[in-house]
Formats: sequence, C-alpha cells, structure tokens
Amino acid sequence: MSLSRRSLVSGLAAGLGYASLRPTELLARTRIGRFQRGGGIDLSVVAKINNNENPYGPSEVVMQAMNSAWEWANRYGTPDGGLMEGIQALHGVERDNILMGAGSGEILDVVGTTFCLGGKKVLGVEPSYGSVYSHARRVGGDAILRPLNADYSQNIPDLIQVANQRASEIGFVYLCNPNNPTGVVVPANDVRRLLDGIPADMPVLIDEAYHHFIDDPAYATSIPYVLEGRPVIVTRTFSKIAGLAAMRLGYGVAPAEIIDKMSPFSTGSQNVLVKFGGAASLRDIEGQERVKALNIKVREWTIAELRAYGYDVIPSQTNFFMVDVKRDVREVAQEFRRFDVLVGRPFSPMDQHLRVSVGTEDEMRRFMAAFREIFPTAANAAAA
Ligand code: PLP
Repeated sequence: MSLSRRSLVSGLAAGLGYASLRPTELLARTRIGRFQRGGGIDLSVVAKINNNENPYGPSEVVMQAMNSAWEWANRYGTPDGGLMEGIQALHGVERDNILMGAGSGEILDVVGTTFCLGGKKVLGVEPSYGSVYSHARRVGGDAILRPLNADYSQNIPDLIQVANQRASEIGFVYLCNPNNPTGVVVPANDVRRLLDGIPADMPVLIDEAYHHFIDDPAYATSIPYVLEGRPVIVTRTFSKIAGLAAMRLGYGVAPAEIIDKMSPFSTGSQNVLVKFGGAASLRDIEGQERVKALNIKVREWTIAELRAYGYDVIPSQTNFFMVDVKRDVREVAQEFRRFDVLVGRPFSPMDQHLRVSVGTEDEMRRFMAAFREIFPTAANAAAA
C-alpha cells in the first residue's frame, strides 16, 4: 500500500475507532461505505450477506500486485503477472487446457453456449447455481432439473439414469461442487461414480467456485479427470477466496479439444490489474488460509447460535449456509431489510430455507440480533 493510501486508511481507522484493525480488515468495513448501488441501498449501513462475497477483500500483497500493473493500462498484449504459469503449475496442466474468463461466470456461459446452442439441454440438480440453467434457456436450449436427496446431497444414481435415458437431448451435465445454495459437497467417490456411469463422451461441467473453503476429506478436486482426458470442464474463480469479485477473473480447465470448441464463444479479455492480482493471490497461500480460517470460525459460530435457538442449519463447507426458517424466505428477507441486513433470495423448491453468506463477525452478530427480533421465540421453546 502506498504511503499516502496508508495514511488515508490509518486516518480513517482512527476516525472510525478501528485503529486496532489491520488495513485489509479496515477496508472491509469502510471501502463499500462510499458507494451506493441500485435500489437505493446504502452499502455503508447494510450487512451485505446475500451474495457469497468475501467480506475481507483482497489481501495486501494482491492489492500491491494490482497497483504494480497500472503501467500496462494503455497497452494490448501485456504481461499477465505470471497468471497463466501459476494456473498451469497449480494444476499440472498445459496452456491449451486453460480458458480464462472475466469471472468463472463467463466460463459457465461459454460452456452453455458451446453445448446447448441450438436446443440441447443441461442436466443438473435443483436448487443449484441457476445461472447455468437460465443461460442454457437463453441460447435456445433447456434444463433438465432433478431433485436433491432428503439430506440435500446430489442424487448421483438418478443423474446417471437420466443422463443415459435422455442422452440424445443432453448437451452437458452440471455439477456444482460444493453446491450453491446448500453448501454440500459431492464426495469424490460420487463424482467418479457419475463420470463412470454416464455416456463416456458426455461433457460434465464441474463448478468448483467454493473449492478453497472446503475442509471435508471426502471431497477432492476434479482436475485429475481433465488430466485423464475425460470430457470434464472444471471452473475456478478469484471472486471468493481471493476477494476479487468486482475485478472479474475466473477460468476453466479442460482437455485441449474442449477448450478449442469453447474459446470462440469467450471474450478472451480480462483486465491487466486483475491478472496481476490473480497471479499474486495464487502465491498468497497465507492470505488464502487466513480467509478460510476466518470464514470457518465465523460460520460455525453463527450456525451454533442458530442451532442453540432451535433452528436447523444444513452443514456447510462454503462461505454461506442455509437455515430452515419454516416460513417463505421472500417475506423473511424483506423483514431482514428493516434491520439493514441483506440475506438470500429464494432457491426453489427450498422456499423455506434462507441462504445466508458468511460476513464479518460484526455482520453475523447483526444478523443474529435481527434473527432474534424477527423470530422472537426460539424454535425449540415453541416446540416444547
Ligand atoms: N459458480 C458459483 C457456484 C457461484 O456461486 C458463482 C457466484 O456466486 C459463480 C460461479 C460465478 O462467480 P464469478 O463469475 O464471480 O467467478
């Protein structure tokens, strides 16, 4: 951080009574305060825990790396700060196995366009990351949506059955691992079962946006399937663990022939600042671990509070979780707005499960305080 920025931040810190905070933590609390976004929401007052963002923002080394890239701002064909090499080394893949995007959302759309344009369908569970399904519909295809199991896991035998029965209609299978909005992982042996059980040439998009938050040893990344040459596309993002959502950077890893098919549909354009920041974030293992540890600590505190109050929460491996509020979440989310707390939207058919992103400790205390106002009786007390 430059000297002038450092003094601005420390001045702000003193003024706001946050003098003891590290600069990045301080920025997490102040940076959004200067902006307003659509709907007249003043982001300086709300606890914004509705979009699964990283509330701490990029680490200092990532911000420094982005600042060092300004000198390239007027150029085309700039260096990338070591991003491509970093991704190759991380996954043990070649350059032609990687497709960069302005966010992994771009890659998800590119997969949808590549394999559903002209009427094919994406097969996946509901609820999941719905943009994949809506994009398939937008390009003239459709979505075949299958229910989750009662324990909110993905029903792999069912997906295999549908993939085989309706193979000619299907453009690709979508597996969000861990799943958004439930926060539940697909164990490694289930991923293998799926890949072994569906037609061998059917593409599978495995969305690992929340990979970095996972602790469960039953989970494993699906990158090795790419190395085996299976028709698997794994997507990753810098929006979550690296805190770069607004900077827009993500990528897909797939066999070279699949990357070749997809690349005509991608913009091939990401800004130089985020490339440098992304490269630095791959090297910043300590920063990643800090965010992961904070997330787990704050998430588990909040879940324990909710459970002690008698509310069921789906165990989560991500930076969000779902709590069963036993009422329609549309109304409940509106009520949270009165307390300046922004929480999740409905994820049909789980209309009574509220998705809550894990914010800072302060934000989660505000969430719990609002929760107790909105639900004045503990669920366990009501049941007694
Ligand atoms: N995949 C999942 C499961 C997500 O939840 C999101 C965003 O929240 C994305 C992909 C897209 O993220 P981005 O485009 O910021 O990389």
